[in-house]
Amino acid sequence: MAVWQCRQCGYEKDARCKPKKCPECGEKDVFGKKETEEKKKK
Ligand SMILES: [Zn+2]
Repeated sequence: MAVWQCRQCGYEKDARCKPKKCPECGEKDVFGKKETEEKKKK
C-alpha cells in the first residue's frame, strides 16, 4: 500500500495504484506518491 496525495487540494488516499481522479477537487492526474512510515512496522 502507498499513500497518494493530491497536489491540488492535499487529499490523501491509501491505494495500491495511483488514483486517476481526486474525489475531493475532481482534478485528474494530480496524485503524487507520499512516503509512508511502513518501514517502522517491519
Ligand atoms: Zn484534490
